[in-house]
Amino acid sequence: MNTDHQPLLQVRGLTKHFPVRGGVFLRTVGQVHAVDGVSFDLDVGETLGLVGESGCGKSTVGKTLLRLYQPTAGKVLFEGQDVVTMKRPELRRLRRDIQIVLQDPFESLNARHTVGKILEEPFVIHRLGTPVERRRWAAELLERVGLETAAANRFPHEFSGGQRQRIGIARAIALRPKLIVCDEAVSALDVSIQSQILNLLLDLQREMNLALIFIAHDLAVVKHISDRIAVMYLGEVVETAAATDVYAAPRHPYTQALISAIPAPDPTARIDRIVLEGDVPSPIDPPRGCRFHTRCRYARDDCRHIKPALESVAGGASVACHYWESVSDAQPLGGLAT
Ligand code: SF4
Repeated sequence: MNTDHQPLLQVRGLTKHFPVRGGVFLRTVGQVHAVDGVSFDLDVGETLGLVGESGCGKSTVGKTLLRLYQPTAGKVLFEGQDVVTMKRPELRRLRRDIQIVLQDPFESLNARHTVGKILEEPFVIHRLGTPVERRRWAAELLERVGLETAAANRFPHEFSGGQRQRIGIARAIALRPKLIVCDEAVSALDVSIQSQILNLLLDLQREMNLALIFIAHDLAVVKHISDRIAVMYLGEVVETAAATDVYAAPRHPYTQALISAIPAPDPTARIDRIVLEGDVPSPIDPPRGCRFHTRCRYARDDCRHIKPALESVAGGASVACHYWESVSDAQPLGGLAT
């Protein structure tokens, strides 16, 4: 076994709390526990699907990796370099290597700039090429994502949602990054357009040996693109495993519930859907013990007091549940389980 293997990205105990301010003097009166102690590795060319209900902290993880948010605690090592303590010049270099594609490209595409100018901007910021070269590179990027080069002269609002996402991807790959964080990148698109964008990302991944972190609330979306899945609940990772294992044999009760909610391709197939009771508790005051105990149908007394650690299990997987072995036997079949 090669003990020198260094993952592209190592995340250890990543924590991000946001202050809650109140009163006349806007004093800090609490903390939103957006991300609490998240750890995972990502290899070169690998895809990690990061999933969970909205508000579980998955997008905050993505943005904290890029230092768009300063972490409250924890370590993020990219090619062995500590991202958390990086100074401005190193951060500038990091932003060539790690890019982000957002759900709504309007958030990141300047509406007053032509697409050509938007695609040339990364080269301008990093002082690469002459104006003529930048124009040529922008045209090549458009072709690479399946758009006509004439699109360079138009503005973002002149394109459909899927086309705008292609422009967002073109800009993300401009500097040949090693990792792209796709934050709900296809969630707002129609199903047929979703699969076109997913196929484009897979093609680019193969071509550039890109690593991807694919953030989504919908497990069905990440199934075909991910090598591994990490499931988050209320700021914590509750299960990680190879994608095929997560869908075939989910270990954590929360993962089981998410998978049971995926519609079956065969409408006549019988699915034992697990309906989660109650709302997601507030991240300002998360439940003690297991954070999922207020909605877990297997919860016992100790779950309310003793926090389950994310423990390694067979096949390189991990799960945070005191009773995962017994609840795994009781799992239902979800729509994509087979
Ligand atoms: Fe449910 Fe208890 Fe497992 Fe938490 S530790 S998921 S409450 S059984």
